[in-house]
Amino acid sequence: MAKPTSDGEFCIIERYFAPLARNTAGAFNLKDDAGLISPPDGHEAVLTTDMIVGGVHYLEGAAPRDIGYKALAVNISDLCAKGAKPSVYLLSVALPEKLDPAWLEGLSEGLSEAQSDFGCTLLGGDTVRTPGPAALSITAIGFVPAGRMVHRSGARPGDRVYVTGTIGDAALGLALLRDPKSASSGHLSPDHKEHLLNRHRRPRPPVTAIEVVRNHANAAMDISDGLAGDFAKLCAASNVGGRLDSTAVPLSDAARQWLGAEPARLADIITGGDDYELLATVPQNAQENFEGECCCSAIPLKAIGEIIDPGGGFSVLGEDGKALELELLSYAHF
Ligand SMILES: [Mg+2]
Repeated sequence: MAKPTSDGEFCIIERYFAPLARNTAGAFNLKDDAGLISPPDGHEAVLTTDMIVGGVHYLEGAAPRDIGYKALAVNISDLCAKGAKPSVYLLSVALPEKLDPAWLEGLSEGLSEAQSDFGCTLLGGDTVRTPGPAALSITAIGFVPAGRMVHRSGARPGDRVYVTGTIGDAALGLALLRDPKSASSGHLSPDHKEHLLNRHRRPRPPVTAIEVVRNHANAAMDISDGLAGDFAKLCAASNVGGRLDSTAVPLSDAARQWLGAEPARLADIITGGDDYELLATVPQNAQENFEGECCCSAIPLKAIGEIIDPGGGFSVLGEDGKALELELLSYAHF
């Protein structure tokens, strides 16, 4: 955000983005060419980037506050999965030709809320105009003690596989947004509906789990494209096989209600994505401590499967213990 190529851009940065960088050492009030970070002694920087685009990652008419919140949350979940504590982020925004100040105000407020929930602040970025829908790209930066980043590739046969939180709420929330009448076939109460919609709008990656995952997990990743597909990706990266027990997947009351009324919704739940919870594989000798420490930190945790030898392949088991046939394991971007 360093180059005020026009007064307009300069004003937007001053008004909507500079307040987000007020407490960032090294952001220089967004008035320099670049930002500066100094990792704490003995730490490494972990970087991740995720983009969200109108019409793809949020539906038209979505509240700008939620868009801002979600744009940061989907990056923070990657840092959580790597065992890295969020610190700062870079923000690039492409804004439609017709600028709506209320939209920018909402976006900035949503980012501000997410900053305080996740413990990070703005370091810098860029603002441009686009003839298309608005798009936001965030690069989040976190710190991890040197050599301690948790990889996708560390899973070993015998590891137990855990997830945090509940799975499927966001995908069901999106189904509700796309087809509000579907709530009646799910026999959902107004509270159920609100819960699912809120989980779609505001993912809350478990920042409280960062240290526990770093201390005990052999491998971890965030669940963004769908539990089944992401589990399979982790297995592929680790060159191991895996079994996901679909009956063990943790569900909210709302998701359980809908699944009870419409068993076919299981596919949405385990392949729909947008959960931004963590998937972690933990070796046998660390499982007791992992579970105990998650419990102490009030991190909702559930064992959902195991890592097996590579020859065993990857499968999702149903109620009868047999492998389910799923059309797609996860959301496909292309
Ligand atoms: Mg990810």
